[in-house]
Amino acid sequence: DRVISGTSKTREKLSYMDEILGLWRLEDLDDTLDDLEETLLSVDFGPKTAGKVLDTIRELVEDGKIKTGEDCKRALKETIVNILVNDGGDPTKMNVSDDEKIPTCVLIIGVNGGGKTTTIGKLSNWYKNAGAKVMMVPGDTFRAAAAEQLQTWADRTGAIMSKSPPNTKPGAVSYKAVDEAIAMGDIDVILADTSGRLHTNLDLMDELVGVKSSIKKREPSMPHEVLLVLDGTTGLNMLNQAREFGQQLGVTGIILTKLDGTARGGAVISVVDEMKIPVKFVGVGETMEDLQVFEPLSFVDALFP
Ligand code: GDP
Repeated sequence: DRVISGTSKTREKLSYMDEILGLWRLEDLDDTLDDLEETLLSVDFGPKTAGKVLDTIRELVEDGKIKTGEDCKRALKETIVNILVNDGGDPTKMNVSDDEKIPTCVLIIGVNGGGKTTTIGKLSNWYKNAGAKVMMVPGDTFRAAAAEQLQTWADRTGAIMSKSPPNTKPGAVSYKAVDEAIAMGDIDVILADTSGRLHTNLDLMDELVGVKSSIKKREPSMPHEVLLVLDGTTGLNMLNQAREFGQQLGVTGIILTKLDGTARGGAVISVVDEMKIPVKFVGVGETMEDLQVFEPLSFVDALFP
């Protein structure tokens, strides 16, 4: 299972947790919980989330519901799955347009190099397999090769590409694409790419907010999803990114990429805990097939084998 192998680095570190739990002593509860906390931090849990998980464990011990190391491990998994499920909501549900004449619009955001373009290709394939007709929108007008790269994915997945004259601003590109897609009448899904880097982060956020409002100006029910692509190899950096994008753009879901490598997925638990945004998909490779619906249970099982 590729998701499981993807968290192998995390797993190595967490065999230390097994050690701690093997030595589990109720009379040394404080020490054990301290060690457990250190272990969670070392696999990129944010301090707040780690503290919250440990508080729950302490309560369960005090209520007599945890008596052994094995109990503790089970409770730990349950607590984390609960964060992913309750705070994140049902990851398998993608928001869709409830008006037949209006396509579903998915705005994709995230920093350069995180896997945004590849993810759009994967999503295009996913929607195509579900029988949907997809239009891609080359909204990253800043990076020279972005549109060509996107075109390659459109060709591979049978999506059509919205075209704008050169030097059209991203907001106008997106407005025109939505207008075109609605007029065409047979487009089911719009996948809108965006810039992942500008001169400054402030410029970037301004541009993205502008793109979103241009889309809204043409069709107020759009975008139906704002998906944030996060690189699974960046550890707790992803928490800062999620905060910044999340506060300004109303992110509705996360796609966690590169879980097939030496990724440490642990940080995403803090993202979900803090931002209350569900992880919807994970990327597990570079081809269009390498997209999986996020499964909290198997994700956590892979973290704590
Ligand atoms: P963008 O700059 O955000 O559009 O990122 P790209 O889509 O161009 O991806 C950057 C690099 O990461 C490329 O080499 C991709 O092939 C690679 N990549 C993207 N997603 C994944 C993934 O899930 N797994 C692996 N191993 N590589 C990925």
